Amino acid sequence: MTEATAVPATSLHKQAVDRAEQTIRTAGSIAEADDRWRVLDRLRRPDRVIRFRVTWLDDLGKVQINNGWRVQYSNALGPYKGGLRFDGAVDEDTLLFLGYEQCFKNALTGLPIGGGKGGADCTMRDLSETERMRFCQAFMAEYHRHGGPDIDVPAGDIGVGAKEIGYLFGAYRRLTGLHHGVLTGKPLVLGGLAGRAEATGYGVVEFARLMLEEQDAHLRGQRVAISGSGNVALYAAQRALELGARVLTLSGRAGFAHFEDGLSEALLERIIDARENNGHRLEDMVRGESGVNFVAGGEPWDVACDVALPCATQNELDGAAAEKLIGAGVKAVAEGANMPLTDDANDAFIDAKIPVGPGKAANAGGVACSALEMSQNAQHATWDKQTTLDRLDGIIGSIHRACVRHAGTEDGFVDYNRGADVAGFRKLADAIIAQGVV
Ligand code: GLU
Repeated sequence: MTEATAVPATSLHKQAVDRAEQTIRTAGSIAEADDRWRVLDRLRRPDRVIRFRVTWLDDLGKVQINNGWRVQYSNALGPYKGGLRFDGAVDEDTLLFLGYEQCFKNALTGLPIGGGKGGADCTMRDLSETERMRFCQAFMAEYHRHGGPDIDVPAGDIGVGAKEIGYLFGAYRRLTGLHHGVLTGKPLVLGGLAGRAEATGYGVVEFARLMLEEQDAHLRGQRVAISGSGNVALYAAQRALELGARVLTLSGRAGFAHFEDGLSEALLERIIDARENNGHRLEDMVRGESGVNFVAGGEPWDVACDVALPCATQNELDGAAAEKLIGAGVKAVAEGANMPLTDDANDAFIDAKIPVGPGKAANAGGVACSALEMSQNAQHATWDKQTTLDRLDGIIGSIHRACVRHAGTEDGFVDYNRGADVAGFRKLADAIIAQGVV
């Protein structure tokens, strides 16, 4: 049988699938899962894609129309779980790629969550507060019939933070009369989990710390370059500072901020506050600060660092940037975003024996804490933040161990991509095979 759906010329979904399949197929001992049960072939396609029109009124009273999607990729391990991305660049292929990655990531957490992803081609930062609310209500008007705590549980992603999740939750409650855990990443007052906001960024830094430890190095005192200035990047910066590292960069759409003396905790607090209160533009936040240089049009990878944490978006760090980082002596790369390294960049790091923690492992702390939020909601309980953060470190530790175990270490070099793909695949394959051909 040939592939039923047409693949776009440059398909992110194809890029992600090809990359994972290549490592899994060379890993051996998957023959039965592959030949007899065709697990990889099954994983190439999602269970279903729900596509719908989102119609809403802007502040001028004009009708606006967008596309909305929910990719329910695989619920072999648990309810579909993964974020919603509201951004003009979103299309079906992007969500298929993110859904595929999510299946492996969620499997690696060891928690009972399947993989899903959704979103809409609408950029939230271009909307007023009231427009965002109406957009979320319009999205939920269609989506609510497809979700539920044991069916499909979305969370945030680019353009969707606790505020949007609150609006989505309100719309769902209004439409269904149900006040239960249909979404995660909720504001605390709606049953959100203390520590969920920090979880992805903190987890990335914990993963990077363990990668260094594997090389008998420490994070304390290391120079860390971070891209992005959203939720993942800012909390990664916060945790890196707490652990004694020097944070040299953050970035936005217009360029990057170079903190020549290292980012201070006080400035980072101000940036986080501004982001939470909607007034966030990195270049405005750092203007006039001493020791900070905003480089318009530049990339953080121009700055020499020991640890690189790409936390912005897919394919943001290319082969040329990787060569610069390698030349400057980078020791470890941990992906805060999903697949931020291009194939060229990935190959360059592997050839240079620089370990790369792939997003499906390094940024899994966010969705892992979403799974904890689901447990908290199912128990009708409220957990304290420290409990969450302790569990987060435990989960990241076990993902790191699984990656190392399945990577097949050579001369001390750990191929984390391989480790993550093989470990994730084994878990998915076991669950899929155990359920027969369905
Ligand atoms: N969007 C995040 C991710 O890429 C979080 C998903 C979730 O919490 O469900 O993993």
